[in-house]
Amino acid sequence: MTGADGGGPAPVRIVFLGGLGEIGRNCACIEVDGRILVLDVGIMFPDPDMPGVDLVLPDFSYLRENAERVDGVVLTHGHEDHVGGLAYLARDFPLTVYGSELTLGLARNRVSEAGLDDQVTWVPVVDGERRRIGPCDVEFIPVTHSVPHAFAIAFHTPQGVVLHSGDFKLDLHPVDGRRTDLTRMGALGADPGVRLLLCDSTNAEEPGFTPSETTVGETLRKVFLARPGRRFVVTSFASHLHRIQQVVDAAIAGGRKVATLGRSMQKNVALARQLGVLAIPDDSLVDIGEVEDLPPGQVCVISTGSQGEPMSALARLATGDNRFFRLRPDDVVVISAHPIPGNEWSVGKVIDGLHRLGVEVVHSGVEAVHVSGHARRGELATLHSVVRPEHVIPVHGEYRHLVNHARLAETMGISSDRIVLCEDGDAVVLDEGGVHRDGTVPGGYLFVDGSTVGDVGHGLLRDRMVLAEEGVVMIVATVDLRAADVVGVPQVVTRGWAVDPVTEAVLEEARTAVADALAHALAEGNQDHESLSRAARKVLGRMIGTRTRRRPMIVPVIVTV
Ligand SMILES: [Zn+2]
Ligand SMILES: [Zn+2]
Repeated sequence: MTGADGGGPAPVRIVFLGGLGEIGRNCACIEVDGRILVLDVGIMFPDPDMPGVDLVLPDFSYLRENAERVDGVVLTHGHEDHVGGLAYLARDFPLTVYGSELTLGLARNRVSEAGLDDQVTWVPVVDGERRRIGPCDVEFIPVTHSVPHAFAIAFHTPQGVVLHSGDFKLDLHPVDGRRTDLTRMGALGADPGVRLLLCDSTNAEEPGFTPSETTVGETLRKVFLARPGRRFVVTSFASHLHRIQQVVDAAIAGGRKVATLGRSMQKNVALARQLGVLAIPDDSLVDIGEVEDLPPGQVCVISTGSQGEPMSALARLATGDNRFFRLRPDDVVVISAHPIPGNEWSVGKVIDGLHRLGVEVVHSGVEAVHVSGHARRGELATLHSVVRPEHVIPVHGEYRHLVNHARLAETMGISSDRIVLCEDGDAVVLDEGGVHRDGTVPGGYLFVDGSTVGDVGHGLLRDRMVLAEEGVVMIVATVDLRAADVVGVPQVVTRGWAVDPVTEAVLEEARTAVADALAHALAEGNQDHESLSRAARKVLGRMIGTRTRRRPMIVPVIVTV
């Protein structure tokens, strides 16, 4: 890894462990001289084809195998898809983690819940700070995003600057006045130049510019003013503290008091107030238990559950079983968020439930009560033109986002041989000659199911999908090995199997067919469990398949006497 053999400066190796091919579980390694810096350690929420999975992690085996070479973890911002995996990686080896104070505060939640506080050393950094971490200088550049105090990160390496955009948008009127530092990025682009830009691709398909976060504040104010005398519940991501600030401001301007509902909302609001990120006067904040005593026109509840999560505060309000608070007709619920792809159905169900209660629901399809935290094509093009990178690798997106971002980079004058399309598990090397591919490392999904991490495989998930969609047919047969004969008639037990006269008849016939198959197998001298099970499964599977066109899970249970 050193430049000793070639005599020139050491090459930089970048390994992508997640986030290139999905929105979620962002994680990459920057390696110089054999030392590794980890950039973000995120989680992903499971897809509908991952039943029973709680979370999806990056495959950590590469990091585990190279643990003694890891000098630190740098965090771009506090979203779960960037910090949520720390609580799992820290089980394997101790970590030193760098990020803004707020980012660290948000990241700490899961680590503490996992009882791993002793495994992590937290090192806060401030806007514009440049410090030596392991093999290179790391510079933390402010960007605007849907959580405050996010960074782009410039790695000053022996091969020049590698700039990672983080998740960003170009908000010219951010709520806290802290804009994306385009001046600094432009300065880096001019001198010494940016060798490689790794850039957020989430909205690479969306034309134009993402509106400023402050436009949501104006809309919220209008929505509140148009409905005087009615109670409000507003839901948003608990980490979207600028959104929460704007809800609070609109509520207070309308003479309302604010209460939080949901554990993460409560926690994050407390953390952000303590850090001075969120301004709520003490006398405007009331306990959720007190809101029933206030006139409806003086209440605004800020709640979790914007993604329709079934156990969340909002979902429980929609089904009328929230123990702190009950919605009444004439209440107004504002969903100040967009469903993450995959969550539309659950959000739809919650909205239906709210309508059943007679509640008015204001969502982004009705009023502009949400804007994205990610740059659209106009902003991406602006960043490219300011940074003028030598090479580009699109990151943070599903495959189509990465492809669209690559095409956009081409229209910005970067020749196609300088744009590298990478996926999870890919490694590249940056040297004097440019960016080259450098093999792959394990980059698959690591599933978390309750306390089990990693032992949940694709086979298990396939089994669960079959069980969910087709059910299970169990056949229990008793065989006498010494007599080489079947005892009695096999029994059939089903679960999740729709019974009708046809299927019932098939299963009835199957009992005899399985008995015959077993008798045949025994007559041929098969005595072992494996072969007898196989014989039973084969005949039963074939019968059910051809006669009912279904493929349930078939479980033969052979009892030997
Ligand atoms: Zn992200
Ligand atoms: Zn983010």
